[in-house]
Amino acid sequence: MKTERVLPDVSEADVVLIGAGIMSATLGMMLKLLQPDLRITVLERLDEAAAESSDAWNNAGTGHAAFCELNYTPEKADGSIETAKAISISESFEISRQFWSYLIQENQVNLSNSFIKSIPHMSFVWGDDNVNYLRKRHAALTACHLFEGMEYSEDVEVLKSWMPLVMEGRDLLEKVAATRMELGTDVNFGALTRCMLEQLGKMEGVNLYFGYDVRKLRQRPDNRWSVRIRHRETHTKHKVRGSFVFIGAGGGSLPLLLKSGIPEGNGFGGFPVSGQWLKCINPAVIEQHHAKVYGKASVGSPPMSVPHLDTRFINGKRELLFGPYAGFTTKFLKNGSFFDLPLSLKVNNLHPMLAAGIKNIPLTQYLIDQVRQSPDERVEALRHYYPEARSEDWELEVAGQRVQVIKKDPKHGGVLEFGTEIVSGANGSLAALLGASPGASTAVSIMINLLHRCFPVKMQSAAWQQKMKQMIPSYGESLADDPVLLRKVRSWTSEVLGLQNIVDSKV
Ligand SMILES: Cc1cc2nc3c(=O)[nH]c(=O)nc-3n(C[C@H](O)[C@H](O)[C@H](O)COP(=O)(O)OP(=O)(O)OC[C@H]3O[C@@H](n4cnc5c(N)ncnc54)[C@H](O)[C@@H]3O)c2cc1C
Repeated sequence: MKTERVLPDVSEADVVLIGAGIMSATLGMMLKLLQPDLRITVLERLDEAAAESSDAWNNAGTGHAAFCELNYTPEKADGSIETAKAISISESFEISRQFWSYLIQENQVNLSNSFIKSIPHMSFVWGDDNVNYLRKRHAALTACHLFEGMEYSEDVEVLKSWMPLVMEGRDLLEKVAATRMELGTDVNFGALTRCMLEQLGKMEGVNLYFGYDVRKLRQRPDNRWSVRIRHRETHTKHKVRGSFVFIGAGGGSLPLLLKSGIPEGNGFGGFPVSGQWLKCINPAVIEQHHAKVYGKASVGSPPMSVPHLDTRFINGKRELLFGPYAGFTTKFLKNGSFFDLPLSLKVNNLHPMLAAGIKNIPLTQYLIDQVRQSPDERVEALRHYYPEARSEDWELEVAGQRVQVIKKDPKHGGVLEFGTEIVSGANGSLAALLGASPGASTAVSIMINLLHRCFPVKMQSAAWQQKMKQMIPSYGESLADDPVLLRKVRSWTSEVLGLQNIVDSKV
């Protein structure tokens, strides 16, 4: 999607969305459905939507529902498994599924259900300790109906049928085990984002501008925000005034939050982590794998660099990716500048950044080691998951950029976080989204949270409550507490999105 629209020197809006990724698209769509008369301006520095982290090739496309991601279920000191985070992420993904189904069913987007596909989610481990962990994890998760249907096996023949590429040629001196969840999905978040923005662009009162870089934000005496913009090619300067600003600029959010001057942003810093994939170019190999197989992160590595061998569906084509290999760069965006990190250092975040840096030297070392990996070492890492991999079948692709949140901490001075953080201030007139995990899969829940924070009165109104319930039938109720409701919404979303539904097949 491209728009050639020219931004006036000065313009007015109710809502200004900075960045054309999945977060702004989701928020814009929700706001416009909640209040159709809102004037919304979307500002994007690149020439098209979803060209950073939200693009299909820049992320793993996993519909994160905590079926296969072992980092969401850590082992506690007493040996039991922590499931709270997994349950919350799983529920959030069901909320996203409902919103997407609503958009399709109500013809709110010109989107076919092919942006999301069923693909089994599996976790695969080797070694006694890891096998014990996976067995306990399976028992702990299947106690909750969100994980109903998850299978567990240590039987080599069963595992061969689930994941032939992973098992062929494997040295079976160590025990192996896997779980399998048929309900897993692969999502093309880029296609979804572009469809939502295309639809938004057609709506009365919505303007999308591409090629415009937001440079500064200033709150005016009348409490409205003045957003200062420069066109990236012509260097013309523009202003958009808005009552509410969302900084949904992905890796670019932190510098803009710091520029906004809201006290709530003080002390925040960012630590960029880049990523790379090995992409399979041999169709015969691609055809043999039908799963997303997640392993355990190696010691010292950040949680998002858990290796996985992933079937993908991108632009109607089946693909196979392995990774991500993490790396270090000072850029905050894939299309960013090497000055991003140094320029983000401010008096108020220097101490938290240094404190977090000192505490995370093993992580920095890990990232440097990853950057220095040779092509042969990368294929060697792949062979842990696909023992018979041949280097000539794979090529290296650059993934999206993540900026992990560093924030003040009374005890340690500063801490590095791997989640997502909404920072809001100025009486809810400005909010920024920092961090990138679990990411796009939970965009709808993140935006509902933001709406509660920034539009508390309207969110309590009968009109908005009713609309929320229409868009997300489980809104206000807990899917983790209500198995009947979960079955009902899962059946509905599976049907609209054309997905596998275990509940139906069991009845
Ligand atoms: C390697 C990797 C793997 C991932 N895997 C998954 C996964 O499997 N499942 C999942 O759910 N999530 C995954 N994620 C996370 C997910 O991709 C992100 O959470 C999500 O795409 C973030 O969306 P966003 O809209 O915040 O940011 P983005 O998609 O990055 O969009 C931000 C936009 O803002 C624009 N922008 C930046 N600065 C400015 C400025 N100053 N002025 C105007 N515009 C600006 C950018 O150009 C960009 O278009 C992954 C991320 C990475 C990097």
